[in-house]
Amino acid sequence: MFEFSERLKQLPPYLFAELDRKKQEKLAQGVDVIDLGVGDPDLPTPAPIVEEGKRALENPENHRYPSYVGKLAFREAVANWYKRRFGVELDPEREVIALIGSKEGIFHFPLAFVNPGDVVLVPDPAYPVYRIGTLFAGGEPYVLPLKEENDFLPDLDAIPEDVIKKAKIIWVNYPNNPTSAPPTLEFYEKLVDWAKKHNVIVASDNAYSEIYTGSQKPPSILEVPGAKDVAIEFHSLSKTYNMTGWRLGWAVGNEELVKGLGKVKTNVDSGQFGAIQDAGIKALSMPEEEVQKLRDVYAERKRIMTQALERIGLKVYRSDYTFYLWVKVPEGYTSAQFVGRLIDEAGIVCTPGSGFGEHGEGYFRISLTVPTERLLEASERIKSLKL
Ligand SMILES: *Cc1c(COP(=O)(O)O)cnc(C)c1O
Repeated sequence: MFEFSERLKQLPPYLFAELDRKKQEKLAQGVDVIDLGVGDPDLPTPAPIVEEGKRALENPENHRYPSYVGKLAFREAVANWYKRRFGVELDPEREVIALIGSKEGIFHFPLAFVNPGDVVLVPDPAYPVYRIGTLFAGGEPYVLPLKEENDFLPDLDAIPEDVIKKAKIIWVNYPNNPTSAPPTLEFYEKLVDWAKKHNVIVASDNAYSEIYTGSQKPPSILEVPGAKDVAIEFHSLSKTYNMTGWRLGWAVGNEELVKGLGKVKTNVDSGQFGAIQDAGIKALSMPEEEVQKLRDVYAERKRIMTQALERIGLKVYRSDYTFYLWVKVPEGYTSAQFVGRLIDEAGIVCTPGSGFGEHGEGYFRISLTVPTERLLEASERIKSLKL
């Protein structure tokens, strides 16, 4: 009787429906399924952050409507963290806004700057929200393929002139989900130049800046001189502090861009719960060793799983970034077919690359966010597969 809006009807079909069905079927048969599909850290939020959240819950000041843009103390904590981590100066009053998780801001951002018919340049494969946020804002996504031969960076020179003329925003995400490709300052410099020349907003999603397993720390695009003229960066506590359930992130950068996002949010939500922001302040002041422990865990898991996959002849994209492995599907299979085999024959759920866009076809993604014992079990099962 009630028809969904055109807005909802234009959304791509749910690509994981068949995979979900298979997983449920295996579970019903009593198979011990190991789910390496979802990128949601298994480890708990560090205790001092949880303690601060509990304390803050008791504070009556937090029981009233929060600030739309986030507590000044939280925005200051973000600015201080950016200064410490990236050497980037931010004005906490004008260049920082709190988000209810970065997904919220990423989705809402195009509503502030995109008119119907405007183009938004979105990478593929990618986190689906860049594309969906564009569609909901009435914009037209234009796909920038991320190819292995270009280290999964978009080829700016390949974007046609008429597309650039209509382009309002370009999305980038490094360290990259799903490919695990690293950012380089060189690329960011080129991107900022390009964006200034063509008057395009650069929206950078830096959710994985702290998830690295080598010695090179990923940069922020805001480290590029002049980046603040064109760029906004989205970030989050979710991955760095195992806080996906808390829903706290932020956007920083160009004042007008931050203001536009704030205008949308003022009309949509009423800000994140103050107690969660207090916990976030605590998180941002955590000693670096805490995050280093987490990196060490991911480094070990990455080693275990890479070895298992390579032992059966699969090609893993080697990277020191994110908690994902991006793996080539063997010859003769589509991503979905091979992922289907993994669940059928090994009880292991992975994400087919095609779920991240057409250019993800030919790969699958493994998330290292399950306890290490489970990952060892998964690696044993993989080693005994006959390809
Ligand atoms: C996990 C993730 C985020 C962070 O999402 P939150 O809403 O902050 O939990 C943002 N971008 C990408 C690419 C992610 O994978």
